[in-house]
Amino acid sequence: MTQFDPAALLVTRSQSADEGPIIRMAQRARELRAKGMDVVSLTVGEPDFDTPENIQAAATAAMKAGFTHYSPVMGIPELRSALSRKLKAENGLDFGANEICVANGAKQAIANAILSIIGPGDEVVMLAPFWVSYEILVRFAGGTPVVLHAGVEEDYKVPAARIAAAVTPSTKLVILNSPSNPTGAVWSREELEALASVVKGHPHLMVLSDEIYEYIIFGGEMVSIGSLPGMRERTITVNGFSKGFAMTGWRLGYAAAAEPLARAMGRIQSAVSAGANQFVQRAAIAALEGPRDEVERMRLRYQARRDMVLEGLRAIPGVRIGEIPATFYAFPDVSALLGRKAGNHLLDTADTLCDWLLEEHGVATVPGTAFGAPGSIRLSFACSEAEIEKAMTRMRKALENLT
Ligand code: PLP
Repeated sequence: MTQFDPAALLVTRSQSADEGPIIRMAQRARELRAKGMDVVSLTVGEPDFDTPENIQAAATAAMKAGFTHYSPVMGIPELRSALSRKLKAENGLDFGANEICVANGAKQAIANAILSIIGPGDEVVMLAPFWVSYEILVRFAGGTPVVLHAGVEEDYKVPAARIAAAVTPSTKLVILNSPSNPTGAVWSREELEALASVVKGHPHLMVLSDEIYEYIIFGGEMVSIGSLPGMRERTITVNGFSKGFAMTGWRLGYAAAAEPLARAMGRIQSAVSAGANQFVQRAAIAALEGPRDEVERMRLRYQARRDMVLEGLRAIPGVRIGEIPATFYAFPDVSALLGRKAGNHLLDTADTLCDWLLEEHGVATVPGTAFGAPGSIRLSFACSEAEIEKAMTRMRKALENLT
């Protein structure tokens, strides 16, 4: 009898669900560090700050008060009401507590949304560069990603006319992420209005608006597309606590949408997990309604780091970078460097360039291939100023000597 091979049972879904380069680069950076190499890692998208004290204290108090049991699948009523108030006051979004589904992270909220409305044959417009999980989830749902790309010369924002031209009778969703991971781009009110009029021109088209970086914005206005006229019913707004409140490990996010959609998202979530952790939900109320000085302090630190990164990258010949009005990512276009050589080493793709920067110069970044933009690389500057300084010096030395 032939030997049983568990791997032979895998279906393509489990093989295609690969966040690939980000995990691979972070892992390789750890391995090299373990071997004693001095590596600066600019790979992961997570705040290097601890969660603010008042939020930690609220979680501890809630835990001690016995909030350690299962919670309602769509979230505790107190948090859903607090979120309804927050969305109204900060985003101009009018959603009742019954139209909000709290999830175990924004990622789960996005999965709930996509699995609720996308099925085989449905097309989803993806605006590259995009966060890699969107594409994985669309494929999970059996949908077809339709990728439109905007580079640095368009401020990484696909113009509405190109989106309009890509919409077919099968298109159901446009995924919008403003402020954007990986580019830091922020859509202006006018740009969102143009997108909204495209969406409103089609009977079956909606927007999934991922607003998780809303508090890490350095200039310009944060506009929620769901607040524009006629967009309330056509928008699923996703947000979470991971980035702005430095709560990545707490796993809390949410989606707001018209009630039938909110309920559908709850059903999907109920099938695969359950309600989010109770004491975390209570801490989230403290995050929303308590002082925001720590959130502001972190934002200012990111802004100072953004300035350092911009200055560092602009000093490297062949690297193109626009403004970074938000987030803690830089997404420089390195296409002018691809095809050049470092000694005998041909840097033909962003992947080889990133591997070489890590292995030879101790700077870990992520190739843009992971974000649908193979001519760029992503740097996360959610790390110390000293690390940024070191990384910029190393990158300049490495990249200015290519032949
Ligand atoms: N959306 C974007 C654009 C992100 O970059 C991330 C995390 O990297 C998430 C959603 C996921 O957030 P959460 O930690 O709440 O699942």
